[in-house]
Amino acid sequence: MALKFPNSMDECVYFTRRKLGEKGSAVAWVFRGKCPKCKKGVMGKPKDEKTGKVKIRAKEYVCSECGYTMEKGAYEDTLTANIQYTCPYCGYSGEHQMSFKRKKVQLLDPETGKKKSADALKFQCKKCGKDILITKKMK
Ligand SMILES: [Zn+2]
Ligand SMILES: [Zn+2]
Repeated sequence: MALKFPNSMDECVYFTRRKLGEKGSAVAWVFRGKCPKCKKGVMGKPKDEKTGKVKIRAKEYVCSECGYTMEKGAYEDTLTANIQYTCPYCGYSGEHQMSFKRKKVQLLDPETGKKKSADALKFQCKKCGKDILITKKMK
């Protein structure tokens, strides 16, 4: 399997580069999807009518062709995440594709030692089978 790497951030709704532990790392990206209604336009954040700038914080996506609107979470759940990783446990380098539907996972906060839940992409290393997590950036 060879994943298609994005040419520019404009093609993605999500792109992240992470270090995983001491020796692991991961790059994850999600391409924008085609409009589920007209199948022609590309779904993107709406633009401000006055300035023409993309409203990055908008809670919905709009089709560039037909104007079909979808709620941000519902739209992102339909997309596929592409992941290129080096396993932090066994050093294996591999690729993985999965639904972008993020699940809440329990994490141990290294600073407070307390458990907290976070949105993350969770998958298993193809070689050693251990769970690898790519969390949504924490604030
Ligand atoms: Zn459309
Ligand atoms: Zn592994």
